[in-house]
Amino acid sequence: MLPEARERADLLTDVHTELHLDLTSTEDFAVEATISFRCTKPGASSFLELTGGTDVTLDGRPAPYADGRIALTDLAETNTVRVTARMPYVHDGDGMTETIDPADGERYVCAHTSMDITQKVIPCFDQPDIKSTFSLSVTAPSHWTVLANGALASRSAGGTADTWVFEQTPPFSSYLFTLVGGPWVSVTWDEPYAPAPGGTLPFGWHARASQERELRRDAEELRRITSACFQHYTTVFEPEYPYADYQQVFAPGLNWGAMEFPGCVVFRDQALVQGTPTELEREWMASVIAHEMAHMWFGDLVTMKWWEDSWLNESFADFMGYDVAGVAAGYTDTWTSAAITRKPTGYRADRRRSTHPIAEDTEEIVDVDTAFANFDMITYAKGNAALAQLGHWLGEEDFLAGVNRHLSSHAFGNADLADFLDSLDAASDLDVRAWAAAWLRTTGFDTLVVTRDGDVPVLTREGSRPHRLTVSAYDDAMRLVDSRDVHLGAEPVRLEDFAGRVVVPNSGDETFAVIRPDEQSWAAITAGLSSVESQLTRAMLWWTAVDLTESTVIGVGELVALADRHLRPERHPLVFEGVMKALQAVVRRYDEPAEVAAHLSVVADIARGAVDGGDPALAPGASRVLARLSADRDFLVGWLARDGVDPSVRWAAVHRLAELGDPSHIDPESERDKSVAGHHAALTARAAVPTEAAKAEAWSRLMSGELGSHEFDAVGAGFWGWEQGDLLRPYLDRYVSDGLDLARRSGQAMGDVIGDAFPRLPLTEGVRRELRAAVAAALATGDVPTVLARSWNDSLDDLDRTL
Ligand SMILES: [Zn+2]
Repeated sequence: MLPEARERADLLTDVHTELHLDLTSTEDFAVEATISFRCTKPGASSFLELTGGTDVTLDGRPAPYADGRIALTDLAETNTVRVTARMPYVHDGDGMTETIDPADGERYVCAHTSMDITQKVIPCFDQPDIKSTFSLSVTAPSHWTVLANGALASRSAGGTADTWVFEQTPPFSSYLFTLVGGPWVSVTWDEPYAPAPGGTLPFGWHARASQERELRRDAEELRRITSACFQHYTTVFEPEYPYADYQQVFAPGLNWGAMEFPGCVVFRDQALVQGTPTELEREWMASVIAHEMAHMWFGDLVTMKWWEDSWLNESFADFMGYDVAGVAAGYTDTWTSAAITRKPTGYRADRRRSTHPIAEDTEEIVDVDTAFANFDMITYAKGNAALAQLGHWLGEEDFLAGVNRHLSSHAFGNADLADFLDSLDAASDLDVRAWAAAWLRTTGFDTLVVTRDGDVPVLTREGSRPHRLTVSAYDDAMRLVDSRDVHLGAEPVRLEDFAGRVVVPNSGDETFAVIRPDEQSWAAITAGLSSVESQLTRAMLWWTAVDLTESTVIGVGELVALADRHLRPERHPLVFEGVMKALQAVVRRYDEPAEVAAHLSVVADIARGAVDGGDPALAPGASRVLARLSADRDFLVGWLARDGVDPSVRWAAVHRLAELGDPSHIDPESERDKSVAGHHAALTARAAVPTEAAKAEAWSRLMSGELGSHEFDAVGAGFWGWEQGDLLRPYLDRYVSDGLDLARRSGQAMGDVIGDAFPRLPLTEGVRRELRAAVAAALATGDVPTVLARSWNDSLDDLDRTL
């Protein structure tokens, strides 16, 4: 934390911000802010942040405004300052994001704020430990709906523009300020809540007008999940729900999955999928709804003091998201999907040099870009898994008591790791501080190894953490014989009862550690994986096989053969879809170019089996994989000629046909589907066409600096075709040089997507080494912007695993 931020937090209290925003102009927007606050040292000076303002005035005169700051001098004990400015709209998702919907030409304006971004929208004291109450009014086109952090108090008509006035909010940090405006379609209801005046709170789901069909289709389920999670949280959390309403918006241009603005959560609009959602997508949506709602308490009501404790927000919300989507909203297999999709991202992040303790050292967070880069899968996935283990280790009752003590003690304030441990410690007899030292303040993960002493399995921990986990014994046909609850520390545990049996540690996937079964057990597991009854155990074992492949203990071919044998009979949609995703990622990163076609054809054939099998839970996910991987052009063209095929499946087929050299289906499909999703899918398909001219055109588009971050993602997703290593070779160097140029001309958000567009395709080892050298040379200059440098270092670590 910077000393000047520390000083400002000590200096300023009781901040109230009154705002009027005028969004009627399409050129820029007008802000009037009246900010009142107390100063603990009268006579001192401070400042407000405001980035990119023009015509900035302070108390009616031109403001002392430089480097994004408005100087405030000679403060009194109580102060009121009035700032006016004109502010720009942005198109990269970092700030007041203006979007024109390609489907109908309608304009939407969304304040996509977060760490250090709110200052691009309004003048504010932009740090998490200075909270303000907000009173907002907005003037906007009269056919719009405007939503914001506070509940709507009144709306007055003014001809072509109306003014929306919102009730004053409780205090929250500047990074959580938002408003969204546009001709939204809405589904609203009054949610029962006894402490509210009148016994209910206004709730709603909102989407772009062009997504009305999808919103109506999913409205009942979205409402059901929302209500179930809300009733659950308001039962288990002691502090009351802190805000006056709960609006959820599918907002265009958001760079994250979703964002937890108090009382007005936004989701990326792609989350409202066009066609039939797959089981993983349905389950992901439920867990994100629960995740963002958990933030109303974890993050919004109680906020980290500084960014090194962002895990206190995100690890908790992620854990709660998976847990509550299951226990409250009926998505009872969320932990199965976590085992094969979410947790692996945590292990992968933890294997890289960039790994960091879940609770990071304060001095490591040198600036906001570093903090931004740490919103990674250590903070989300590993933190989630560590808290799940903590809950299992402490027992649910003590864990919840500690959590509630934390929430109640710091409501409307800020807290750090020490505060959190104080609360947990008071609720449990166990040594919580030692647990935190071992789990939260270290990097890396343990390996749980099974060896045999004669017939007796012995479980040993390679590593340093205490674990509480289930160990299961199976017969040779992988039928469950028995399970035991085991506390594992430095001392090996002899499993006398399991003598002669197949042994699977962490069969309930309670802890964050990889497993290495003994040879006898592994042979039985690979022979009988699909016979294991528990889908959670199967998911954990599939991840183990993927981990062994990524650790080059087994080859890609062995993993594909395992899938050929055990994924065909798999009936659990989350396991099936999760493993299919993992297979594609492993082939893309680890396979030799000469073997790709054969491996992809096995995966495509497994998908075809599931599609032909007609299981409605498997079909949506399997159809997309089949359309994306099939090498049979006639089959794909035939599919496009059929009626009633899902838009996402159609686009996967169009993409695949383009990748195979037939781009003729892109234009007709674009004509048929003018949605945002269709626009992005067409960009992906065009970039996939395997000709020098098409690649050159896609490249100049990609590096033009004119694409929004989602468009950039879309072009990047098509560019590096599976079997196009030879054609794309000249672009490997250019990715490094042109990507670096573009990152230097752009902000954090673009740095992030440029990193995501790293060439991931099967390449020969020699070419992988050349790519590695080019990226390493660029990084060695020390002149790569922070967010891109972090992403490239991670990609180098991943590449090194293949060399
Ligand atoms: Zn979150």
